[in-house]
Amino acid sequence: MKNNALKHPIFKIISQSAEALGIDAYVIGGFVRDFILKRGQHKDIDIVAIGSGIDLARQVAKNIPNHPKVQIFKTYGTAMLRYEDIEVEFVGARKESYTEESRNPIVENGTLEDDQNRRDFTINAMALDLNPSRFGDLLDPFDGLKDLDAKLIRTPLDPDITYSDDPLRMMRAIRFATQLNFTIENASLIAISKNKDRIKIITKERIVVELNKILESEVPSIGFLLLEQTGLLDYILPELVALKGIDEKEGQRHKDNFYHTLEVVDNIAQNTDDLWLRWAALLHDIGKAPTKKFSKKVGWTFHGHEFEGSKMVYRLFKRLKMPLNEKMKFVQKLVLMSSRPIALAQDVTDSAVRRLVFDAGDYVDDLMILCEADITTKNPRKFKKYHNNFKLVRDKIIEVEERDQIRNFQPPISGEEIMAAFGLKPSREIGTIKERIKEAILEGEIPNEHKAAYDLMLEEGKRLGLTQVIASD
Ligand code: ATP
Ligand code: MG
Repeated sequence: MKNNALKHPIFKIISQSAEALGIDAYVIGGFVRDFILKRGQHKDIDIVAIGSGIDLARQVAKNIPNHPKVQIFKTYGTAMLRYEDIEVEFVGARKESYTEESRNPIVENGTLEDDQNRRDFTINAMALDLNPSRFGDLLDPFDGLKDLDAKLIRTPLDPDITYSDDPLRMMRAIRFATQLNFTIENASLIAISKNKDRIKIITKERIVVELNKILESEVPSIGFLLLEQTGLLDYILPELVALKGIDEKEGQRHKDNFYHTLEVVDNIAQNTDDLWLRWAALLHDIGKAPTKKFSKKVGWTFHGHEFEGSKMVYRLFKRLKMPLNEKMKFVQKLVLMSSRPIALAQDVTDSAVRRLVFDAGDYVDDLMILCEADITTKNPRKFKKYHNNFKLVRDKIIEVEERDQIRNFQPPISGEEIMAAFGLKPSREIGTIKERIKEAILEGEIPNEHKAAYDLMLEEGKRLGLTQVIASD
């Protein structure tokens, strides 16, 4: 195994460079873990030097034929260089001690053991020796290998101290459990629950990096269930926690929208890798908590939850310092429209499909993916029926699109043309005529063509009491 791991020529170069400087160096962390797990080539390699990581990086760059640039991060005492498609990070072995207020420790030079002690998990603390005489030897002081085998996330030292020192590790534990489908050992889970409020000292940006990695995993619900179970979700996404629970009144119950949401996210993860579409699935029902009502007549309702939800998306993105750009607008729009195809699937008419395509524009395909993922009924007959109906909607979308080209609707008659036809200045009538033409096309009264639209314009102008100006050449 070990020599295979270090097949890439970069490792020989690092090994020789370290020897030239008379220091020891090791590969550590994610690269070692992912190699043993056969997760494919890990693109960032972490090197620990027992000495200066910056000096080692400079020496390595000298020994690479095209002498890549070394980026130096003075404050952290680290250095980075690129070799082909690989990013190599160099750090001197450290010993760390933490203070109460910050996740930034006091750092001193240390031994390899000191450095392994400060690593977050046993499976991330394994190192491979690069010293020429011990090339490839595995240094695994905390039985990380055994934990890889048992699929266990465990901290090298006391979990209570590990998570309290750097609360980001709580997010990382849950993220790795999700990505690797591992179990977090019980002592860790207890320590995370105990230290959950320390998550407040972590920047939103770093939390979101981990959230995104959870969402990008094969089964994202693993992570969200752990976040919920440990209480971290209350701090990070209280909007989701608010969806938890089933209320019953006068014998009427509604479904638990938290677990429903997680099912939708797992479903959509099978059909798309798009992070933002996955975010839309995660947030598609958040408006249900504030809009929930019970009435004797109709039971439980969530009127307007899509609109409320889309407004909440903005506030949530802002709070988490996520981008307030077109990605956020995409999520908002999908949340806003998330019930449309379902309603439509009851009765698939041409005009309803045209309206859906008109309103959703380029998002219509993503919206269909979301809505199919939203089918979580456990009743096999209904499950089949809904999917069949969606198949009909999809077919009709294609049909309507080929015929009417509604997706990025451009009115077949322009305002200028209307003004010219009736000798008008800009006025309210132009808007009225345009709206009438758009409605007629969406309703299927006329095809989306110039001639038909022109005739309708004349008719509508007459109704409004306008007189046609005869064009004179
Ligand atoms: P991935 O690259 O898939 O995120 P990784 O394990 O390589 O996984 P990195 O964030 O690249 O994770 O960090 C590299 C190594 O640094 C880890 O394997 C771990 O040993 C150590 N490490 C990173 N973050 C922490 C932390 N917050 N506390 C302790 N050790 C950490
Ligand atoms: Mg890494």
